[in-house]
Amino acid sequence: MADILTFNDLKKHFVIGQEGFLRREPITVKAVDGISFAVQEGETFGLVGESGSGKSTVAYTTIGMYRPTTGTIRFRDKDLFADKKRPLALRKQIQIVFQDPGSSLNPRRTVAQILALPLRLHRPQENVLQQTAQLLDMVELTLEYMHKYPQTLSGGEKQMVAIARALATEPSFVILDEPTSALDVSIQGKIINLIMRLQREFNLTYLFITHDLSLMRNVASRVAIMYLGKICEIADAVEFFRTPYHPYTQMLLASIPVLSEEEEALKPRKTVSRGEIPSPVNIPSGCSFHLRCPRHMDICSVVDPVMVEVEAGHSVRCHLFPPS
Ligand code: SF4
Repeated sequence: MADILTFNDLKKHFVIGQEGFLRREPITVKAVDGISFAVQEGETFGLVGESGSGKSTVAYTTIGMYRPTTGTIRFRDKDLFADKKRPLALRKQIQIVFQDPGSSLNPRRTVAQILALPLRLHRPQENVLQQTAQLLDMVELTLEYMHKYPQTLSGGEKQMVAIARALATEPSFVILDEPTSALDVSIQGKIINLIMRLQREFNLTYLFITHDLSLMRNVASRVAIMYLGKICEIADAVEFFRTPYHPYTQMLLASIPVLSEEEEALKPRKTVSRGEIPSPVNIPSGCSFHLRCPRHMDICSVVDPVMVEVEAGHSVRCHLFPPS
């Protein structure tokens, strides 16, 4: 499969203030700090991390809300930041579904008006009313919803409208930023099934951002784990869940609930980790996970490990690899 979106040493740092008395030094948050990976055409790529890992900054930089500090993001053969303002043709290709559909839909507009906005901008030659009806049908909502306002909809229905709005521009790449985490458990499965059906029907590529690693077991073709702005492990999903290498991945996997004895047997042994994820303002030296890592060595607090390909397509950033 060809690469559709390529991140090359992407960094996004935010200066949030200054510190020091005589010499003022900037206080910098390294939200994303040198990530490189490629998403392949037609796949669901799972980007997983705790709150504060930088995964949403990756999403917002990709859609153009932020410009990279350094590094590039390429969509097929185009640098997304080559122009000061992203061309319309490129904007329509990359869409996003946000975590909270309640705050991402304008409460003063009806569903028809919400969907008409991207339709008029990106498909001006088409019949807006007809296209709106088609979009509603795609996301399994009836025509009655056209005249409803967001505040009269359930959380699941709002997210269906948000998905319809993302598809209004006929994109090829959709970022799903925790699309089910704000919803009732009872509706989460329905939204996931809808998202996966739409992918098959329209040959969409997904960058699926989540803190819920167990969700990726069923939907992702490849998975990457982010920790304090860096990728620490990346692999094909089957391989990832069968043979996790990074101590942080093992810690995350050991803590997720499983449904069967087979899955329980595959889980890494419970790993005892210490503390919470540190503040991105004060990232620990060396390996940023070393303060929490049950397997840390002397080198870990001094030298930041580099990404090593342990097996074809399975890379890990940890001093334990390659094994000596
Ligand atoms: Fe743990 Fe060291 Fe590997 Fe970091 S580099 S994950 S501290 S063993």
